[in-house]
Amino acid sequence: MVKVGLVRCEGAMRICPGTSCFRAIREKTGSFAQYSDEEIEIIGMAPCGGCPGRDAVRQAAEMVRRGAEVIFLGTCMIKPIPSEPVCKYSAEIAEAIRKKTGVDVVMGTH
Ligand code: SF4
Repeated sequence: MVKVGLVRCEGAMRICPGTSCFRAIREKTGSFAQYSDEEIEIIGMAPCGGCPGRDAVRQAAEMVRRGAEVIFLGTCMIKPIPSEPVCKYSAEIAEAIRKKTGVDVVMGTH
């Protein structure tokens, strides 16, 4: 069993219901293929809070407090999916989450 938390782009959230992220978790594809032999529990899926990721670290830390063992940044934070532009802050956000929580941060979901 692995417990995961997801952080997603505040802007992308307005047009994306997260279907591809949830499918990747359910089907163990994309970044979740590494858990092919494990059950995945979703602790939460939280928005970053808007540029430059104002709430991302706080949200991730809360998910870790609630049991998340790994934090995933949504593909919406890594690639121009579902829309342009690509987030300029994702690497910085990931590093800040690692530093604050001590857990691994995976870049992208599906
Ligand atoms: S910081 Fe990145 S992930 Fe957050 S709203 Fe801005 S572009 Fe989207």
